[in-house]
Parts: sequence; structure tokens; C-alpha cells
Amino acid sequence: MVFRLSASYAAITIALLSLFGAFLFWSLKDGLETNARNTLADKISVMRQILRERPNDQEALEEEVQWESTARRQSVYYSRLLRDNGTLVIQSPGAQDLIPELSLCPPPAAENRSLGDTREVHPAPERTLLISSALIASAGAEKSAVSAPQRFVYTVALDTTTEQNFLHGYRDKLLLVLIGGSVVSAVAGTYVARQGIRPIKEISAAAHRITASDLAERVGSMAWPRELAGLAAEFDAMLQRLEDSFQRLSQFSADIAHELRTPINNLMGEAEVALRRERTSKEYAVVIASSLEEYHRLAGLIDSLLFLARAENADLSLQKSWFRVADELAQLLSFHELQATESEVTLSFSGDTRLFADSMLFRRAISNVLSNALKHTPAGGNVTLEVLALHDAVRILIKDDGIGIPPEHLPRLFDRFYRVDAPRADAIAGSGLGLAIGKSIVYLHGGSVTIESEPGKGTSVTLVFPLPPGVKEEEILERASPPSPRHASA
Ligand code: ATP
Ligand code: MG
Repeated sequence: MVFRLSASYAAITIALLSLFGAFLFWSLKDGLETNARNTLADKISVMRQILRERPNDQEALEEEVQWESTARRQSVYYSRLLRDNGTLVIQSPGAQDLIPELSLCPPPAAENRSLGDTREVHPAPERTLLISSALIASAGAEKSAVSAPQRFVYTVALDTTTEQNFLHGYRDKLLLVLIGGSVVSAVAGTYVARQGIRPIKEISAAAHRITASDLAERVGSMAWPRELAGLAAEFDAMLQRLEDSFQRLSQFSADIAHELRTPINNLMGEAEVALRRERTSKEYAVVIASSLEEYHRLAGLIDSLLFLARAENADLSLQKSWFRVADELAQLLSFHELQATESEVTLSFSGDTRLFADSMLFRRAISNVLSNALKHTPAGGNVTLEVLALHDAVRILIKDDGIGIPPEHLPRLFDRFYRVDAPRADAIAGSGLGLAIGKSIVYLHGGSVTIESEPGKGTSVTLVFPLPPGVKEEEILERASPPSPRHASA
């Protein structure tokens, strides 16, 4: 990432610098060339004027061709005037070595053009001349070196060595700037990218430091750049959730160990006592029978735990089907009838509808709530079940007028292993998993469960099982069939 960022940064800088440098170089070169061409045009124009207006003025000719040209310090030029038959009229000193023969010069410009083609020549390795020729016609004159209208070829060679050297120097400097700029931008780009990426490295370092035993680590306390603050906050929120579930998990393991220890200690104690001396077969039978009870409890506990674990992992496939709620409740009531009769509690249910759910799990959920109600309702009390068909769900209300639950326990009642205060829990044995299982069954069906209670007055638990979306018309009609109140036990 750092490499990619800094490489792109450097590439952009190099491209921009090159473009800028090329533009500057081109403008300068163009300016210098225009200048040189103007000088050449000037010189040709001067010669035209001399030959047109003072064709006999030998002195002016010499002045222009022999003196001025080489006397200059800037824009030194060399020139040569030939007749159109090729004979030399006059030339600057040194011109014979510098100006190539006519056939190698660019074609002369016609009379009416101020400047024709130009050509660069290099008479020596470090020397540059810009050459152009022009045709010139003189006005006629009696006594002159240039007699009666004649035609000439005038060639001017402008020394542009200084400009060329200047241009080359300029190009070298630009290249230097380009290379320097690229190096600087690569270094700066790497630095900037590293700085930009540092927070991400810090987050990953924090992630690296986190272990299961130390989920308290957070990254949020540092001052993050705006773009990363959200990520850091999400990361911390995730850690918080992880820590919570991890804590619940370890609490759960501790609870399981605790729950298993008591029955196993009991079993061990009984076995040790039994082995202390020789027993009759009847005595052994009593010990085995009591052990068996404990085994049943243990098996039930393990079964419940297994069920909860599978429900939590959504590893449980629901065997959903349509059934009549009243049929299932009648079965349940007959199952709990004995318990109700023994504790002299009146058990009844009303209402009916059809429900699409896993009937076995449905029975298990209702049974758990129902057995709680029966356990905590003293003799002469009432436990009622009420079935209500809602538009898109089925609501089941299980109500008792038993001892009730103090309000501080209500929020945690559905937690695994949660039981209301110790003396009561001792009095009425239970593992504290019943409501947790009921809740996970309802949740597996996408429903909800609520509990309301008042100490001394009673408790009511409401389970809501949603119906699948798009229930067919006839199903709704079917569901609306009149409820039939029944009494299972008195
Ligand atoms: P298990 O159902 O696993 O045998 P349990 O009945 O103790 O054990 P839950 O069914 O989860 O566990 O109930 C949790 C606690 O809530 C119970 O210990 C009980 O004290 C209290 N409780 C539940 N239902 C009622 C009720 N109808 N009236 C009074 N207390 C209740
Ligand atoms: Mg229970």
C-alpha cells in the first residue's frame, strides 16, 4: 500500500514536471527561433534597400557586408552577395568557410517574400549557424559595381551558437529539476503514505495484542483521522460484543461445572458409604435406585444443555407443520394432570387456532412454563392457558395466581441457570434452564416471550409464535373457527 501510494504520487509528479518542463523548453526555443528569423529577415531587408535605392553605393555595401556583420558582439552574422550567374560580388570575412555553396543553401526566397526557408548548419562541432537566402533585384545604375538592373542571390548566416548553448544549458537544468523533483517526490510520497497508514498499523497492532484473556484492549482512545474514526469505533464495538459474549460463555462454563459437581458428589458419597461394609442386596437396591434418580437428573441436565447449545448455533432444523393448538395443549395437560391434582391446583385452557410450527418444540416450550406455574402455585390456586389467534401470530398466555416473582429478578429470568433466590430454589428443585429453553424455542420460530409478575399475586407468561408470511385465505378462515373451552383437571 505504501509503495503503491508513493509510486503513484511520484509518477504524477514526474509526469507534471516533464510536461511543465517540455512546455517551458518549447516556448523558449520557439522564442529564440523567432528572434533569429526576424534578424535574418532584417538583414535581407537592409540589403534589398541598399540595392534598390543606392545600387552604386559601394561603401554602404561594404559597411553592411564586411564591417557590421563581424563587428557585432551579439547576433554576429556572415553574408554573401552573388550575381544570379554565381559570380561573387562581396562577402563577409570568413564567410567562404562558413557559408556553404549555393546548392547546399536553402532555396532563395522570391522578391516578394521577406524570408524564405532557413537551415541550420554546423561548420564546427560546437558552432551553429542559421542560413537563409533571398533573391534581390537591383535598380539600374550607370557607373557602379552593380550595373543596370540585375538579379542577385543574397545569403545570410546568423551565428546562433550562443542561443543553442543557452538552450542546451536550460534543457540540462530542466532535466536536473525533473530528476531532483522525482527523487524528492518519491521520498516525500513515501513519508506521507507511511504517515497516512500509521493509524491502520496501530489498529492492527492493537488487534494483534488482543487475546481471549485480554479482551479489554481498545483502540478508540487515540486521536484518529476522520476517515478511520468510524473503523476504530466499529472495531471497539466489535471488541465490546466479543468481550460480552466471552464473559457470558465463561460464566456459563462455570455454571455448568457447578451444576454437575453437586449430583456427582452425591453419587460418590452414596457409593462410598455403601462400600464401607458388606450390605444386603436390598440395601444395594436402594442405593442403586437413588443413584438412578440422580442419573436421570444428570441426563436431563445434559440434554437441556445440548439443546441450548444447538439452538444457539441455529444448528436445529425445525420440523414445522400445521397443527391445532388445542390438540397439543390437551396432550400437555394430561401429562401434567397428576402434578396438578397432587398439588390441588386447577388447570384449564381456552381458545384454539391453527399454528405452523415445530409441534414437539412447541410442546416443550409450553411445558416448561406450565411446570413452573404448577411448581409455584400453592394448593387451591389456578393455572390457566389462553390461546389467542392474532392476525399474523398466535399468542399463548400462561397465567397462575401463585407466589409471584420479585421485580428485580424479572430481567434475568430467561438467562441460563438463573433461579430466584437460594432458599426458594432449594425448596423447589430446578436447574434454572426451563425458561432459557422456552425462550430459545420461541426465538427459533422468530417469536417473542414476555413475563409479568407480582409477588403474592401471580405470574403470567406470554409466548408469541408468528405465522409464516402470506398465510392462505382458507388457513385464516380455518383459524377463525370458534374456540372450545375445556377443563382438563379440577
Ligand atoms: P428447570 O425449569 O430447569 O427445572 P427452574 O424452574 O428453576 O428449573 P426456570 O424454569 O428457568 O428454572 O425458572 C427460573 C426461576 O424463575 C425459577 O427458579 C423460579 O424461581 C422462577 N419462576 C419461574 N416461573 C415462575 C412462576 N410462575 N412463579 C414463580 N416463580 C417462577
Ligand atoms: Mg422451570
